[in-house]
Amino acid sequence: MGLSALGWQAVYRLLAGQPEIAVERFFLGKGFDAPESADSQRELRLFPLMAVSVSFEEDFLPFLRALIAAGVPSTRTERPDYPLILVGGPIAFLNPAPLAPLADAFFVGEAEAGLLDFCLALKRAVFAGVGKQAFLESAKDMPGIYVPGLSKIPVRRVLAMSPDHCGLLATPAWSCFTGPQAAFPDALLLEINRGCPHACRFCAAGFVYRPPRHACMEDLQAIVEEARPPKVGLVGTALTDWPELLPFLRWLHARKTKFSLSSLRADGLTEELLCFLRACGIRTVTLALEGASERLRHAANKKLDAEVFLEAVERAARLGVNHLRVYLIIGWPWEGPQDYDELQAFLGRILAARDRGQGRKTSEFMRITLGASSLVPKPWTPMQWAPMASEETLVAAQKRLKDMTKALRGVALQVDAPFQARLQGVLTRGGEETFELVRMAATEGGWKKAMRLWADQTRDILDRERGQDEAFPWEVIHTGVSRQSLWREWGRAKRSLPTPSCPRAGCAECGLCGLDKWLQNDGSGPEPENSGPSAEAPADRSG
Ligand code: SF4
Repeated sequence: MGLSALGWQAVYRLLAGQPEIAVERFFLGKGFDAPESADSQRELRLFPLMAVSVSFEEDFLPFLRALIAAGVPSTRTERPDYPLILVGGPIAFLNPAPLAPLADAFFVGEAEAGLLDFCLALKRAVFAGVGKQAFLESAKDMPGIYVPGLSKIPVRRVLAMSPDHCGLLATPAWSCFTGPQAAFPDALLLEINRGCPHACRFCAAGFVYRPPRHACMEDLQAIVEEARPPKVGLVGTALTDWPELLPFLRWLHARKTKFSLSSLRADGLTEELLCFLRACGIRTVTLALEGASERLRHAANKKLDAEVFLEAVERAARLGVNHLRVYLIIGWPWEGPQDYDELQAFLGRILAARDRGQGRKTSEFMRITLGASSLVPKPWTPMQWAPMASEETLVAAQKRLKDMTKALRGVALQVDAPFQARLQGVLTRGGEETFELVRMAATEGGWKKAMRLWADQTRDILDRERGQDEAFPWEVIHTGVSRQSLWREWGRAKRSLPTPSCPRAGCAECGLCGLDKWLQNDGSGPEPENSGPSAEAPADRSG
């Protein structure tokens, strides 16, 4: 899994390219053994800097266990001297609060925009005999650095882009390590786009990576030419929005490089693209439905045309795709039995579209897997004010789906564990006190027991709708999207009103979420918090 994660590899490349810095990789092994360097077998605690990329909330526990196993004190107050623990990755700019008691500092944003400066400053401090606390005091307001208790807050997320080239991903990430033991064996992972213009209201990636940017095909070709991998995994939140997707895939195919794609949007799955994918041997297609009914999809801001979706299903069946995955999110605050009635009818239409597309072909029967995930309201999205569905509600929704699908030929259902989703909900919206929950899980034998001991706090974090002016623990950072625009979107979600996607022209001609003004502010002046449209303004650029 570690070898198939892209974020830390971009950081590795950035730091390892510096002759002044030695970088070694540590992975958590099986069991709770102390992690050893994968490069030199040295012990973790010997290094003055531990830089940890944290992508998911449930990684908090293995991270803490790794420190305990390595004999490194797990809170910063118990660790007055080096090692300095620096946390980066999506968690650092989603909600760093639960790890604030553990981390000495966070890097908030894109590594290319200042991480190297921080590491070089640290290296100079270590070699000059400067203690950790004195170093943190001197580094607390460096770009992207959040030192809990010391930095001026909110800390701005830093971006590796020029405001003049708003839609361009100038520094796409790609793997520096591939191997047969990776989760995606021998695949060079290549970042195609970052951020997503469609602003689905449940999706943190659509908000915290703004503005949406695409890589340039020539840059990606140069990377592939140099690495010459047998396979390329294309990574991105909105692959089919990339105008150069098909030319790039054709180029890969012509040089006999295999490829794989993450999920596709139904409106991007054109006849031409699907024909090409099939000719290259791709047999599984994933489409996201997100809400059980049109009303829920509007609340989610999933701008999906049911007819376009059904056309994509029919096309996939006609062209010989033998496995269609359909993603669904359950547990919306406004969900009711009528939404599931609508889904049942829509599933019938999906099967009819499959039958039309397949015709008499029985050798290429298209299986359908309905994957249902529980909604976890995330920070920095309009859902940050929402209550989360109870475990009982989620279990009941899953039962309804089981009843609905069990008699359908060739349809399988996959569901997540509601307990796990609720746990993620606590960890993603909790404050600094949530570290206690992580500590309990590490010492008391896992999440289940810790969550039982923490039941009251869990209810307070998850089960109530937040007030308009309630301050959130994650607002120690600022991602650039104004609170006012998120509040407006929360109101529109309640009324099932759609909001347009980011325009191709970019932030300079938009201003819907306030990022345009935030990008112009270099951080020296006050944050333009009220720069978004007013709560009552229509989310319509035409005025
Ligand atoms: S200002 Fe407009 S284009 Fe820029 S990120 Fe916000 S919504 Fe998208």
